[in-house]
Amino acid sequence: MQVGGRRSSGAATNTRFAQEWAHVLADASYLSWGRADAEERLRPLVDPLVELLTAHQLDRGAARELGARFAEARFRGTNALQVTLRLIRTRSDELFAVAEPDRVAELLGEFTAGYADGLRESTQREQETLLAAVLQTAKDTETAMRASEKLFRAVFTKAAAGIALVGLDGQFLDVNPAMRRLFDPDGLSETETPPRPITDYVHADDAPALIGELRELTTGRKDSLHGEARFVRLDHSVIWAHVTASLVRNEADEPDYVIGIVEDVTERHQLRTRLRHQTYHDQLTRLPNRSLMEEQLRWAFSADSSVESVGLCHLDLDGFRAVNDSLGHQVGDQLLLSVAARLQLLAGEHLVTRTSGDEFSVLVSDPMGVEELCELAEHILAGLTPPFVIGQHRLSMTASLGIASRAVTETWPEELQRAADAARSWAKRAGGGRWAVFDAERDAGETSQFALASSVPAAVDRGEFQLYYQPLVQFGSGELIGVEALVRWRHPEYGLLGPAQFIDLAENNGSIVALGRWVLTEACRQAKRWAEELGPAAPYVSVNVAPRQLAEPGWLDEVSRVLEQTGLDPCRLQLEITERAVLVDETAASDTLRTLRDMGVQLTIDDFGTGYSSLSYLRRLPVHGLKIDGSFIRGLGEAGTQQSKDSKIIEALITMAHALDLVVTAEWVETAGQASWLASLGCDVAQGNWYGPPVTPTQLNLRPPLAG
Ligand code: C2E
Ligand code: MG
Ligand code: MG
Repeated sequence: MQVGGRRSSGAATNTRFAQEWAHVLADASYLSWGRADAEERLRPLVDPLVELLTAHQLDRGAARELGARFAEARFRGTNALQVTLRLIRTRSDELFAVAEPDRVAELLGEFTAGYADGLRESTQREQETLLAAVLQTAKDTETAMRASEKLFRAVFTKAAAGIALVGLDGQFLDVNPAMRRLFDPDGLSETETPPRPITDYVHADDAPALIGELRELTTGRKDSLHGEARFVRLDHSVIWAHVTASLVRNEADEPDYVIGIVEDVTERHQLRTRLRHQTYHDQLTRLPNRSLMEEQLRWAFSADSSVESVGLCHLDLDGFRAVNDSLGHQVGDQLLLSVAARLQLLAGEHLVTRTSGDEFSVLVSDPMGVEELCELAEHILAGLTPPFVIGQHRLSMTASLGIASRAVTETWPEELQRAADAARSWAKRAGGGRWAVFDAERDAGETSQFALASSVPAAVDRGEFQLYYQPLVQFGSGELIGVEALVRWRHPEYGLLGPAQFIDLAENNGSIVALGRWVLTEACRQAKRWAEELGPAAPYVSVNVAPRQLAEPGWLDEVSRVLEQTGLDPCRLQLEITERAVLVDETAASDTLRTLRDMGVQLTIDDFGTGYSSLSYLRRLPVHGLKIDGSFIRGLGEAGTQQSKDSKIIEALITMAHALDLVVTAEWVETAGQASWLASLGCDVAQGNWYGPPVTPTQLNLRPPLAG
């Protein structure tokens, strides 16, 4: 019932749209039939249109075909197209709940292109039909004399298309009224058209080709021709016309004269030119777009061009999104316009294109080495420095530029683009406001790291990961009270890899979730084994949690499931959370942490002091402890110099943490001096090479090691 009801209301909406469509077309007065008739012609187009509008992805081919079908429905003239485009643009949201303007614009672009193609095809078909009819009556004229002569005259004079009879010498023999109107819309020539050569009417640029074609016809080498050419009217204006012509032979089967059908297609031509411009130009900045840049690149690399090397400079504005987000899209658009204008000025004769969003590129043919490109990049950066004034805003923008330059024999267009993109991302990562030149060696290193990270999930399945455990020792007693689980990858090709080589990348591509699941399970399983072996003296296990895991829905359930499956007492599990993970969404993080705490899991903030280390959030977070980042301990020097800045920070951190009832762990304790100084400050737990490096479970000495 429900579904049926909805469907019928959908059909009703579609009918309503067809009515509105017929209405606007009637208003634009392009109907030679009644409104109901028009509606009937339009109705079959509405269902596919709605389907296109509401589908997940735009079917470009179908959108084009729909445009062609609209052309064939014979609602002629660019106005008919315009009112149609406007109707779809303005009504699709309300009627069909399609609110994505980009999507609708894309559809309309394809629809228009299809419309132009459709017009061309239907013109050609109509001309051929008419020509066949004219030829038939012309033939009859020869044989059946007067009756047919009358018929021929009727077709000739009544036809809406221009018809001309042209002698073998290229002189007009006769033209019909439509043809006369075409060339002389204002009735400038009173007299009958004198026998003038057709070349008098053909545009000089198109005359040689047309005469050539005509000669093929008159000499009998070809029987028909069709094509488009420019013609000059009596008032000297120029029109584009589509011509279909055929040779008529006499009774002796010798070429006699030529009949041509001529139709004005100027509007369609303008439409095509506009479409072509739209295809290759960015709507906002009017700069050439990515398609044009790519076409130029392909051409430069093709055999036809004499270009030997190509330089590409990809540019990306730093922090453009913040402008959009904080000041709105209108300011963002204005800024892009100003940037585009400056860039064009700065790039001199080189081709500037807007490739997407806030990305631009400059293409340099045959640069004088990479130096020229670096100078250009420097010049562009300097030129972008003065603030942009948009309304009452003064916006200071910087950009990241990536440079790649190669000989055309050495690479191919896509690869050159990728190289410039890679270099740009290096400039961006280095802080922006700078340029970077592509370096194949660095690129190879990064590409293999990416490949490495993407193989993480499969490696988890193959059991290539292994946990090492590092002692966590109580300062006062010197007892080993816990261990931190640190992951290692026994890579079949590269050997033993430390987390620095894959954790960040795995975090970026999301595979940390699968890896983290394995780490947690394995660590809990191991801790349970120790608990069974050693009873209350068994160490707790401390497991690192990546920000991505914390934000992952379902992660909490996973933790409790693992605890349940392994049978580990939750108080023997400690989770290490970085400040970064908490800062993204403090409320959500707090909720998650509170649930874990209620489950009995211990929580500590890892690498404390490297993030924002805000006191206020530390007070609010439901954690048990913090781990002072190793870099502060390293700053203490060999003997734990008590005068350094780092030592004062450590002192303050310990005091503060204790005031909040937090357990303080110090990482990277490497010397006896550091250990004793930290102990004297009342630091609770130590971790570091002085107490033992991370090792496999069998290498781990679970008896109390030396006290610091
Ligand atoms: P972290 O959690 O701060 O771990 C401590 C790191 O300091 C470990 O490096 C450890 O080997 C190193 N270290 C320990 N004692 C000393 C010392 O005395 N001197 C010096 N210089 N370094 C010491 P590791 O194992 O390379 O791990 C690096 C980081 O990778 C870890 O930092 C942690 O953030 C991350 N990580 C390791 N395992 C995992 C994991 O299973 N999951 C997640 N998400 N991250 C992990
Ligand atoms: Mg850690
Ligand atoms: Mg740490």
